[in-house]
Amino acid sequence: MKMKAVRVFAPEDMRVVEIDKPEIDAEKNVLIKMKAAGICGSDRGILHGTNAAATYPRIIGHEIVGVVEKVGEGVTRVKPGDRVIIDQVTSCGHCYACRKGRPNVCFNLKVKGVHIDGGYREWMTCNENDCYILPDSLEYKDAVMIEPTTIAVQSCSRAQLEEIDDLLIIGAGALGTSLIRIAKLYKPHKLIVSDIDNEKLANALKLGATDVINSREEDLETAVKKLTDGYGPTVTIDAACVKGSLLSAIKVTGPAGRVITMGFSVNPEEVNNFLITSKELDIRGSRLQNRKFQQVIDLINEGKVDLKGSVSHTFPITEAVEAFRFADSGDPSISKIALTFD
Ligand SMILES: [Zn+2]
Ligand SMILES: [Zn+2]
Repeated sequence: MKMKAVRVFAPEDMRVVEIDKPEIDAEKNVLIKMKAAGICGSDRGILHGTNAAATYPRIIGHEIVGVVEKVGEGVTRVKPGDRVIIDQVTSCGHCYACRKGRPNVCFNLKVKGVHIDGGYREWMTCNENDCYILPDSLEYKDAVMIEPTTIAVQSCSRAQLEEIDDLLIIGAGALGTSLIRIAKLYKPHKLIVSDIDNEKLANALKLGATDVINSREEDLETAVKKLTDGYGPTVTIDAACVKGSLLSAIKVTGPAGRVITMGFSVNPEEVNNFLITSKELDIRGSRLQNRKFQQVIDLINEGKVDLKGSVSHTFPITEAVEAFRFADSGDPSISKIALTFD
């Protein structure tokens, strides 16, 4: 049987293709009928050839939600009819990172939708351990936001965020928004958000930011120092990952602070020893997520995180090319775009 899939053959060459429907085996022992899949910045990076991790040709899609259609022998974690989200991380289990309990940076890491085929297809198979049961309260399309939320949980966990921290999040786009939702649960003393778009900043305030800075209208460093009694934030998360944002983060963060990077840009940034050594900054990457799905699902079930209505636009899988074009338009009405599969 054939099914539709979205394959990026090479940068700037994405097409909807017909391929064989997959079958379960001993390793990939769950067959899932896909229901929704988010479009995220990294998917657009793969399309445009700016994601250094990606290999081609690739069926992309890593924010992937569906319903279990069939399970193999001995599968106990899920059953047909279960609504699930799929963990995108595939790790080797034996390298240093895996042995340190950090499979998300496995030396032999294979991310679904990046290094191996992902979820922009009508059916996919995976291991039962990659499946997490969705909260009943959440529609399929909004459930794609669980994955970006796990990314935010990972980032706050890497930052060792605490109540005594003054947090600066650079960027109030999709990633920044997920970060605000999660970071506020840690009750940081200040939760400051910077962006260049006033509408996004207004939304940040609505979601729980204590202060916002338009870094096009004000000097970020001056404004954030003013808000932190001159000290600077103790945690800065760079969720913008644009030219200059990493240097700004390192400059502005106060002594003993942490700077979290989340971008994949390979463009050089000119930093210097003094900025880091003099303040004993920790500069830490935060990549993907380390088994954070259940934590996010629990937060939703406990009513601490609400993802309802977070997807602003949906497109059927057959209109994936149009969906990506719309995503690239930067239309201000976009908060999140999801592909659907019916
Ligand atoms: Zn993503
Ligand atoms: Zn490994």
